Amino acid sequence: MSDDTHTPTDNAATVSEPSATAAPSGARVLDVAGLSGGYGQIQVLHGLDFHVDDGEIVVILGANGAGKTTTLRAVSGMIATTGSVTLRGEQILGKKTPDIVRKGVAHVPQGRGTLPELSVEDNLRVGAYIRKDGEVDADIERWFDVYPVLRERRNQRAGSLSGGEQQMLAVSRALMSRPDLLLLDEPSLGLAPLIVQDLFARFAEINKETGMTMLVVEQNAQLALGIADRGYVIESGTIAFDGPADELMHDDKIRKAYLGV
Ligand code: ATP
Repeated sequence: MSDDTHTPTDNAATVSEPSATAAPSGARVLDVAGLSGGYGQIQVLHGLDFHVDDGEIVVILGANGAGKTTTLRAVSGMIATTGSVTLRGEQILGKKTPDIVRKGVAHVPQGRGTLPELSVEDNLRVGAYIRKDGEVDADIERWFDVYPVLRERRNQRAGSLSGGEQQMLAVSRALMSRPDLLLLDEPSLGLAPLIVQDLFARFAEINKETGMTMLVVEQNAQLALGIADRGYVIESGTIAFDGPADELMHDDKIRKAYLGV
């Protein structure tokens, strides 16, 4: 049984070894234009346009069923779509998911996607499978510094971790591929509020100290806008609003529809 009621205080560490890329360069990492598609005959996305620049945290908000998860799946090449998806100027729409991973996109799916039968450490090693450098062990220690509870549980089966710990593992596993762009699909799902706050604070820290570019899909608008640079709101498979996170946070329409105020 997972237990999401742990307080996050035992994980209080800062991100070590900031990389040389910590300052956002403003270069376009992801550019999505006219993205349409869905599942067989069911069209979910109706011409989405959005982008993510180097070093940004961008959040995609929207109601249940609006198409947020489908958007991330489309970027990762998991569903057939039309339009354009470029990664640092290179067209990736139509490429297979493993190729998109190799090009630098790491996707933490809803429900986390750890390998429950493998140990925490082996999950991290699997996350580094595309790498050929000799720094995998050092990176494992680095993410253990960020999430010390994972170090304590390094030999434990991933499936025996609490929900919050599994989410930390899923994020660390994705980071082990040294991605250029991290896609996070509703990281708060099913977690207790304190755990979620800690998780988001850690995303902000990772972004600040390593410059990691993140595209986050989230229903918890308040929390996500709190760490994001910019946001987009999807309604029925199109972008209904977009803007800087602090503007969206203070926009009456957004507040009524997504912030419950
Ligand atoms: P949620 O927050 O509930 O996950 P979402 O905005 O992420 O919502 P999606 O999961 O992208 O929404 O789903 C968009 C639409 O696509 C919904 O109507 C959903 O029922 C449909 N859908 C999702 N997955 C599939 C699938 N595998 N096959 C058919 N339809 C699907």
